[in-house]
Amino acid sequence: MKTEIDQLNKQFDGKSPEEILAYFLPKYGVRIALASSLGLEDQVLTDLILKTDSTARIFTIDTGRLFPETYSLIDKTNLKYGIKIEVYFPECEPVEQFVRANGINAFYESIEKRKECCGVRKIEPLLRALGTLDVWICGLRQEQSVTRTGVQAVEWDEANNLIKINPLVHWTEQQVWDYIKTNRVPYNVLHDKHFPSIGCQPCTRAVAEGEDVRAGRWWWENPEHKECGLHKR
Ligand code: SF4
Repeated sequence: MKTEIDQLNKQFDGKSPEEILAYFLPKYGVRIALASSLGLEDQVLTDLILKTDSTARIFTIDTGRLFPETYSLIDKTNLKYGIKIEVYFPECEPVEQFVRANGINAFYESIEKRKECCGVRKIEPLLRALGTLDVWICGLRQEQSVTRTGVQAVEWDEANNLIKINPLVHWTEQQVWDYIKTNRVPYNVLHDKHFPSIGCQPCTRAVAEGEDVRAGRWWWENPEHKECGLHKR
């Protein structure tokens, strides 16, 4: 598989996100989907994907702890594109057990508890969604954080036995914003209030001028720990 992935990365070297999507979407049909966090990059990808195939699958995960603005964005996006984003919820039992054992906001207490919360609220539904796929589309960009500098356009996700594609891998933040504005793509209004990266409400805060774009995510942890486990490499 490594050889195939290397070959695909060579094939898409210097190619646009549209060209990458035009290759993968028809090839994989219902076995490919955008795993949308509803962030800026995923909103760009939603627009690009639906321009390529209006029936393409887009899913998101409702952890139960999202911002009200994020729920509004799901509605706005559905309305603009005439789609229904597939919303996956966590299994209730593991969430209930975690909260009963540790408290409702235990993620502030340790990295282990934070990862456990991400595990039951995010990873479990993500894995269920990924179980329906051969390829998942992600909005990762190399520029986003210290944990993402090694991201490639096409990757083999060993843990999930899937191809993962990152069509915006080489885009800058400016390119993302330019696309959003030019194409009137709906986006989370929190981005206009100094929230460059938005996750669950209790684990996201606004950042100061000049701070890293992901500085507001799990701000009490060191930068190298700031992944929820969705994007292991
Ligand atoms: S981001 Fe925070 S609230 Fe959301 S799943 Fe992870 S630890 Fe839990």
